[in-house]
Amino acid sequence: MAPFDHDLFVIGGGSGGVRAARIAAGHGARVAVAEQSRYGGTCVIRGCIPKKLLVYAAHFHEDFADAAGYGWTVGEARFSWPGLIAAKDKEIARLEGIYRKLLTDAGAKVLDGRATLADAHTVVLDGKRVTAETILVATGGRAVKPAIPGAELAITSDEAFHLADLPRRIAVLGGGYIACEFAGIFNGLGAEVTLAYRGEALLRGFDGDVRQHLGEEIQRKGIKLVLGAAPARIEKRGGELAVIFGDGREIAADAVMAATGRHPNTAGIGLEAAGVKLAKDGAVAVDEWSRSSVANIYAVGDVTNRVNLTPVAIKEAHAFADTLYGRRPAKADHRNVAHAVFSQPSVSCVGLSEEDARREGFEVKIFRTRFRALKHTLSGRQEFTLMKLVVDAASDRVLGAHMVGAEAAEIIQGLAIAIRCGARKADFDATVGIHPTAAEEFVTMRTAVAPAPAH
Ligand SMILES: Cc1cc2nc3c(=O)[nH]c(=O)nc-3n(C[C@H](O)[C@H](O)[C@H](O)COP(=O)(O)OP(=O)(O)OC[C@H]3O[C@@H](n4cnc5c(N)ncnc54)[C@H](O)[C@@H]3O)c2cc1C
Repeated sequence: MAPFDHDLFVIGGGSGGVRAARIAAGHGARVAVAEQSRYGGTCVIRGCIPKKLLVYAAHFHEDFADAAGYGWTVGEARFSWPGLIAAKDKEIARLEGIYRKLLTDAGAKVLDGRATLADAHTVVLDGKRVTAETILVATGGRAVKPAIPGAELAITSDEAFHLADLPRRIAVLGGGYIACEFAGIFNGLGAEVTLAYRGEALLRGFDGDVRQHLGEEIQRKGIKLVLGAAPARIEKRGGELAVIFGDGREIAADAVMAATGRHPNTAGIGLEAAGVKLAKDGAVAVDEWSRSSVANIYAVGDVTNRVNLTPVAIKEAHAFADTLYGRRPAKADHRNVAHAVFSQPSVSCVGLSEEDARREGFEVKIFRTRFRALKHTLSGRQEFTLMKLVVDAASDRVLGAHMVGAEAAEIIQGLAIAIRCGARKADFDATVGIHPTAAEEFVTMRTAVAPAPAH
């Protein structure tokens, strides 16, 4: 008889957990996976997918307006928030079913409920104890609100997907990608949006030109941007809410959304009982093989707070399953991970920002272009696209590509391959563009705008 009930027990049925369970079971391991909420996790249920559906919905507003420049007369457009939410929920339910089926088809045992660790090999689920040789913690992260009085009056992205009505006025607190995306969604759908962030520019950690450009563009679209504003408290005043900032400024709104950060889900799941060490930020501390301080306990995805994106969680999970059960040792590579912000206009980047490249000691050449896309010649829309390449002056290697504009993510995904392959600026120059596109600008920028500093 096998000494353990399962070879692998996966805690969490999100992006990372599902991939690890499926691949390990495919390699022949006896796998069980437990999910406390809905299979698919943050990405499918309350993250990437529903968010992108709402982004599409929000964009129609501009599309109807732009159509007039092309000879179309569009009748009075009306929007139904309950209609959108119902359609989105139906799609999410369909996807959840697919995730469950992927697991059962692969031969994994699919369990519902909150799992906790009693010790390094024992999981407790609904009062029942099961054992496993290996445990994978894939419990993700959760939204955290600012620790200020009245924070309970604010919603987070979790609730934003289920509001009964579209708020007439909403204050979005935060300057990260989720704050920018939801500000664009609510604005596009017709709400009056104030985006308030305590920093001096949105999207901390992104390239400085990108941060500046996005700030200008979203204001042109009607979002009120309040920077350098740290919220001090939220109050209910009659039928409305007020956000009061440390410097005395106030915003009145019908809803307040806190997009002020996420925290790894490591509390209350018995990690201490099993002896698993946490990092300072509360994440499970892991090595490059995703192994924790306890030899048979691994962790992947947001719970490790490395690069908190779905494709990264999936890569880490796949590498884990191939290494342990497929006799194919693999590590997830966290360098040059392309990422996007589905704000309006959207942002996408791969590689180093100009600031990071300089900080890492590179002498850089910067290629940058700012233009109005062809579509907006006839639409008349004042929206500008930004593209930027950060190039190592010494080797000519392209260190980073950055874009703000329509379909930025679709364009940067292709460049991510080139940058991963070590493409030089000369390779970009030798590439023939596709005309007429915005993307061709990435292969036609000839003149550096900021010469590398003299030796
Ligand atoms: C609003 C929003 C938008 C996002 N947009 C994007 C995007 O556009 N692109 C992108 O790449 N990423 C995006 N992300 C991030 C992405 O969703 C996460 O990086 C990804 O889901 C991480 O996967 P994971 O498996 O680590 O965790 P999760 O997907 O969060 O899954 C963890 C699962 O574990 C379950 N769980 C927790 N504790 C237990 C327990 N004790 N027992 C059983 N189950 C448990 C949870 O219920 C959850 O389902 C977004 C996130 C948010 C919040």
